[in-house]
Amino acid sequence: MLGRKQLLIGGEWRDADGGKTQPVVNPATEETIAEVASASSADVDAAVAAARAALDGAWGKMPARERGRWMHKIAARMLERIDEISKLETMHNGKPITESRHVEVPMAIECLQYYAGWADKIHGETIPVKANGFVYTLREPLGVVAAIVPWNFPLLIAMWKVAPALAMGNAVILKPASQTPLTALMLGEIAVEVGLPAGVLNIITGSGGTAGQALVEHAGVNKIAFTGDTSTGKGIMRTAAETLKHITLELGGKSPNIVFPDADLDAAVRGASVGIFYGKGEVCAAGSRLLVDKSIKDAFIAKLAERTKKMVAGDPLDPKTRLGAISSKSQLERVLHYVEIGKKEGASLVAGGSRADIGTGKGYFMQPTVFGDVTPDMTIAREEIFGPVLAAIDFADVDEAIARANDSIYGLAAGVWTRDIKKAHYVASKLQAGTVWVNTYNLYDTSAPFGGYKQSGFGREMSRYALDYYTQVKTVWVDLTQ
Ligand code: NDP
Repeated sequence: MLGRKQLLIGGEWRDADGGKTQPVVNPATEETIAEVASASSADVDAAVAAARAALDGAWGKMPARERGRWMHKIAARMLERIDEISKLETMHNGKPITESRHVEVPMAIECLQYYAGWADKIHGETIPVKANGFVYTLREPLGVVAAIVPWNFPLLIAMWKVAPALAMGNAVILKPASQTPLTALMLGEIAVEVGLPAGVLNIITGSGGTAGQALVEHAGVNKIAFTGDTSTGKGIMRTAAETLKHITLELGGKSPNIVFPDADLDAAVRGASVGIFYGKGEVCAAGSRLLVDKSIKDAFIAKLAERTKKMVAGDPLDPKTRLGAISSKSQLERVLHYVEIGKKEGASLVAGGSRADIGTGKGYFMQPTVFGDVTPDMTIAREEIFGPVLAAIDFADVDEAIARANDSIYGLAAGVWTRDIKKAHYVASKLQAGTVWVNTYNLYDTSAPFGGYKQSGFGREMSRYALDYYTQVKTVWVDLTQ
C-alpha cells in the first residue's frame, strides 16, 4: 500500500475539502494500492486561484528561457527517478513494465525536454502594414490550462499537454483519471522537489463528474486540454461553450490498418499485431479494424491467429511480459461484452475471446482476440472497444479499401501496408485520419503531430503544432506619423 495521497494546490499538499478519498486498484492483483484525495469543486476553486496567482506573480513575469530551465530541471529529476515512475505507471494501469520503462516514461521525459527547448523560440513578428507605422504581434499564454487525461497512457498523455502549456507560460491544473492518478502525483512531487514556483503545476485527483466537471465549468479556467472518450469530449464541448473556453479534444478511434496483397506480409502480420495488442489495445489509435485484400485474407488471418495464440498475458512487473492486465474490472467487462456481441452478430472468432488467468487467480487479464469475417456494419467494426480485440474485414480493390477505411465516425489514425510506393501515397492522401503510418504502425515521436479528424477530435498534440493551442496572438498597431 502506497498510503494516502493528497492534492497539490499552490505548491502545498492538502486533503480534499471534506476529506473525501478514492481508492486506486492495481488491475493485475485487484489490490487497493493507494487512497487519493477526491477533489471537490471548492478544491478546484483553490487550484484555479493558485494557478492565477502564479500567472500574476513570478511565473507570469519570468523570461521564457528561464521557464525552459525549470522544465529541464523537472525532466532531469524524472530521469533520476525513472524506475520508480515506471513501476507506478505499471502498477496502476496494468501495462507491461517494459512499455512503461522503455517506451512511455522515457517519451514523457523527452516531451518535457522537447518543449523546454521551444520555450524561448516562439515569438511574434513585425508586419509592415502602413508607410508610417507597423504592426507587431505578441504570443501570450492563454492563462489557466486544465489538462484532463485518461488512464491508458497516464503520464505520457498528461505530458503532451503539460509540457507545451508550461513552455508557453501558462499555469496548469492536471486532473488524471481516477484509475491512474499516481504518476501525475509523482510529477507534482518532483515539481515541488525541484522548487518550481507555487501554483504553476497543480494536481487535482478526483472524479470526472465532480472535479473534471468543475474545471470545465470554471470561469477562471481558460483552456481545457482533454483526452478521453468521444461522448465525454462532446459533453466538455457543450459545457465549455458557457464560458467560451479554448478546447482541444483527442478522442476515440476505430483505426483501419490496411493490408494490400503486394505488402511484405510477414511485416504486415507483425504490424497488425503491434497495432492492436500494444498497450492491451487500450490505445486511442489502435489499429482495431484490419482491412485485408480478399485474395490474401485467409492466409493472412491464419498467420495472425497463429501469432496471436502465442501471446500470453503475464505479470505486468515481469520484464518479459508483453501483454499486461486490462486497466479495470469494468473495462474487462466492457471488452468481453463486445466479444459476445461479435459472436452473436456472426463474426468468426479465430483467436482468444476469453478472460485469461496468469496463474494467480487474480487480475483483469484478457486473451488477445482476433475476429475474422467481420462485415463493416457489425458493432465490433464500428464501435471503439478499447481492448485487445481485432476485427478483420476484407476488401476487393484499392477504392473499396479506402471507402471501408473512411466508413467510420472516427479519424484518428490509419495504417497502409504495400510495396507499391505510388499506391502508398495515393491511399495516404485519401484516408480521413490525422496520422497515416506506411509499412509500420503505432510509431510516435515528440516532433511529429498527433490528433484526430472527424469525431476523433481536434487540435494537435506534440510537435511545434501543439504550441499554437497554448498561446494567443496579440496584435499591436504602432503609428509613427509625426
Ligand atoms: P472518460 O472520457 O470518461 O475519462 C477521461 C478523463 O475525463 C478522466 O480523467 C475522467 O475522470 C474525466 N472525465 C469524465 N467525465 C468528465 C466530465 N464530465 N467532465 C470532465 N472530465 C471528465 O473515459 P473513461 O475512463 O470513462 O473510459 C470510457 C471509454 O472511453 C473507454 O472504454 C474507451 O473506450 C474510451 N477511452 C478513450 C480514450 C482515448 O484515448 N481515446 C482514453 C480513455 C478512454 P475519471 O477518470 O475520474 O472518470
